[in-house]
Amino acid sequence: MGNPKAFLTIGRKEAGYRPISDRIKDFSEVEQTLNSEDRRLQASRCMECGVPFCHWSCPLGNKQPEWQDRLYRNDIKGAYVLLTQTDDFPEFTGRVCPALCEKGCVLNKTHEPVTIRENEAAIVERAFNEGYVLPRIPKHRTGKKVAVIGSGPAGLACANRLNQRGHEVTVFEKNEAVGGLLRFGIPDFKLNKSVIDRRLKVLEAEGIKFVCNTEVGKDITGDKLMSDYDAVCIAIGCGVPRDLKIEGRELDGVHFALELLQQQNRVVAGDVIEPKKRITAKGKHVLVIGGGDTGSDCVGTSTRQGALSVTQIEIMPKPPEGENPATPWPYWPLILKTSSSHEEGCERRWLLDSRKFIGKDGKVTGVEVEEVEWKKDEATGKMNLIHTGKKEIIKAELVLLAMGFTNPVLEGLLEQLKVDLTPRKAVAVNDEHSSSVSKVFASGDVASGPSLVVRCIASGRDTAASIDAFLRKE
Ligand SMILES: Cc1cc2nc3c(=O)[nH]c(=O)nc-3n(C[C@H](O)[C@H](O)[C@H](O)COP(=O)(O)OP(=O)(O)OC[C@H]3O[C@@H](n4cnc5c(N)ncnc54)[C@H](O)[C@@H]3O)c2cc1C
Repeated sequence: MGNPKAFLTIGRKEAGYRPISDRIKDFSEVEQTLNSEDRRLQASRCMECGVPFCHWSCPLGNKQPEWQDRLYRNDIKGAYVLLTQTDDFPEFTGRVCPALCEKGCVLNKTHEPVTIRENEAAIVERAFNEGYVLPRIPKHRTGKKVAVIGSGPAGLACANRLNQRGHEVTVFEKNEAVGGLLRFGIPDFKLNKSVIDRRLKVLEAEGIKFVCNTEVGKDITGDKLMSDYDAVCIAIGCGVPRDLKIEGRELDGVHFALELLQQQNRVVAGDVIEPKKRITAKGKHVLVIGGGDTGSDCVGTSTRQGALSVTQIEIMPKPPEGENPATPWPYWPLILKTSSSHEEGCERRWLLDSRKFIGKDGKVTGVEVEEVEWKKDEATGKMNLIHTGKKEIIKAELVLLAMGFTNPVLEGLLEQLKVDLTPRKAVAVNDEHSSSVSKVFASGDVASGPSLVVRCIASGRDTAASIDAFLRKE
């Protein structure tokens, strides 16, 4: 710790977002950066606690105090090396992680937490710019072949670690490009896709083979996979969105969130979409059903596409603002989150259930919603949903369903590999990330259910360690 009193004399300073009037005109990243001196001062605020709760809060167990110290001392190479010991892709987590570490930061109790996420992003950006991120080509090869199915954060982290241990890794991806939800889910204004391409170049130079446009279970059978590879890692994500099967669901203009988000990311990448297939909020009143992060991404995307208005509704009550006694430090606080997309203009409402889609000439024109209450059943402690009968119609020519994801796609790969599933239809794995089928492992959302990028990188990293141990035993 370079400056033991910095946390008392230097305040938290965030880089902040680009001005709203500027950022809603494009899909470039909204977040700004600090100059390197301010960044160094922010790193100096870390108290290097005896018991660093930031380690505990971070699913990767990142060594935050150690790399804050390197950043403060301007040892960017050292900071990057330390950072990537635990986090394979700090350029992703540094941009999109909700920063569980900052909630656990001890400074968060009495002052404001260290800007851990921003500092992480600053280290990795400088490491790339200053030439410290070079391909590390493994010196020895084991001769073992591993197939990783899916190129999201879990698959990429697993592939990276296995390749570094000398195994020959092939990543299969059904989409035309690598990245999973990093590329075809999270909007460019949160994560510019050149950031994925930059890392991909390094991974390819290190020897990982990427095979895109290939759906395993369809273009390659499960049997073929099992005969060609010594181990298989399933990292196909949790791809089935929760539907809302109410009257009018078939109307034109009612879409899953990802239909809009994937298409917009492809448009930003230069794809041309047939006008008939284009989903756009331009000139429309938009209703987003689902109050979570995917919903927030739909809000930001709709605003940029030129929506007349955007409303986001949620069936649960409005979370408390500021602090929630039910989730005290160092836990993740269940409180109201206001994203950069919300700040750009959006009406947010809670305790509303959607009852039916209303349309004219086959096109959606609105949604009938009903106010609800949640009442605790004193006998069981269960919260029950009560419909109040108070209904209204929210006008909308585009409705986006952002109510989460239920389970992975079962048809194809999972059926063919015959892996056991959990009651929630995720792939059942043991502590070693091993499925019920020998030499088949599973990583990320396909095993955990919908999660976070940081958890998927941790899962990919740990799955790689288990596959490596399995291959060495073999
Ligand atoms: C809109 C949206 C925004 C999000 N924003 C954030 C955020 O800001 N921060 C955060 O931490 N988390 C966020 N998340 C969650 C995060 O993106 C996911 O938890 C994470 O990407 C899951 O990683 P994964 O590797 O398990 O799977 P995925 O990222 O889903 O990748 C799975 C890949 O497998 C491929 N695949 C599927 N089946 C096959 C097959 N049979 N053959 C070959 N390939 C196949 C898919 O095409 C996909 O590329 C967001 C999620 C969504 C939907």
